[in-house]
Amino acid sequence: MSTILVTGGAGFIGANFVRHLIEHTDHSIVNFDLLTYAANPESLEDLDSKRHQLIEGDICDAERVSELLAEHQPSAIVHFAAESHVDRSIDGPGAFIRTNVNGTQALLDQALAYWSGLEGSEKENFRFVHISTDEVYGSLALDEAPFDEQHQYAPNSPYAASKAAADHLARAWHKTYGLPVIITNCSNNYGPYQFPEKLIPLMLINALNGKPLPVYGDGQQRRDWLFVTDHCKAIERVLEAGQPGRVYNIGGDAETTNLEVVHALCDLLDERVPSSTPRRELIEYVTDRPGHDRRY
Ligand code: NAD
Repeated sequence: MSTILVTGGAGFIGANFVRHLIEHTDHSIVNFDLLTYAANPESLEDLDSKRHQLIEGDICDAERVSELLAEHQPSAIVHFAAESHVDRSIDGPGAFIRTNVNGTQALLDQALAYWSGLEGSEKENFRFVHISTDEVYGSLALDEAPFDEQHQYAPNSPYAASKAAADHLARAWHKTYGLPVIITNCSNNYGPYQFPEKLIPLMLINALNGKPLPVYGDGQQRRDWLFVTDHCKAIERVLEAGQPGRVYNIGGDAETTNLEVVHALCDLLDERVPSSTPRRELIEYVTDRPGHDRRY
């Protein structure tokens, strides 16, 4: 039994990961989260406070992070904290550079200072798992094979560029200073506790309320979809058996277009919560997002 420091654990994937660890391991979790608009502490309300502690704070605050590490002596850090919504990054990239780039650097610095002071097996077994995205690789042509870990970085949105920058920092802190960093790049997650600005919860809520379903461009953007619990299992496995310095891509092998996803949601809702008109009629095609990747 040991303590894991999770950053951004009141957000969508982080909250699912905290719940996964509580259910499937005997680790205790210190959850450090700035509680931005994207956080939902209610996702974790029912958890035993002996196993899970939610602490409000900013990963950019080096002093606070340093105190936290000294106090809780974690055996690993799993770093989810980020600004994560592409549309918001187009409207205001500054917050993305601050948290995703500067915040990751601050966290890596403090992790390095803490890890340098460890000894023996505690030092050897310590891990820093940096959670990233397939969006760092840019867009795939229709006939190209899926991304692998050697794929060239070509981020297209400010969000993807900030995550790519953070990945490079994480890699460099391993290569230069020896910090046992592992990077994971995953595809689009879906599942419980997601903030309703993202495709699936937004469409579900609008469709249930008879509101328009805005689909970008022609809706033919292709994404691989990964159920969040499957992602959490993969991260747990990386934590147990991943090699420091390695990158692991995590996908669901479930590629589909955005329009197919919206159609499926409409049809499922029509079946389960019948309405007078088919929900596909609520679909409205809106101007495509600038720089929108065609396929991941
Ligand atoms: P999210 O936006 O739902 O949650 C992010 C969390 O980070 C929030 O709780 C927020 O309060 C916290 N946070 C933001 N700034 C912070 C700061 N400065 N200090 C401390 N906490 C801060 O994000 P998510 O969808 O759960 O994504 C988690 C991670 O996974 C992110 O790094 C994201 O880039 C990556 N990712 C997500 C997806 C996806 O489909 N959701 C896909 C690939 C990669």
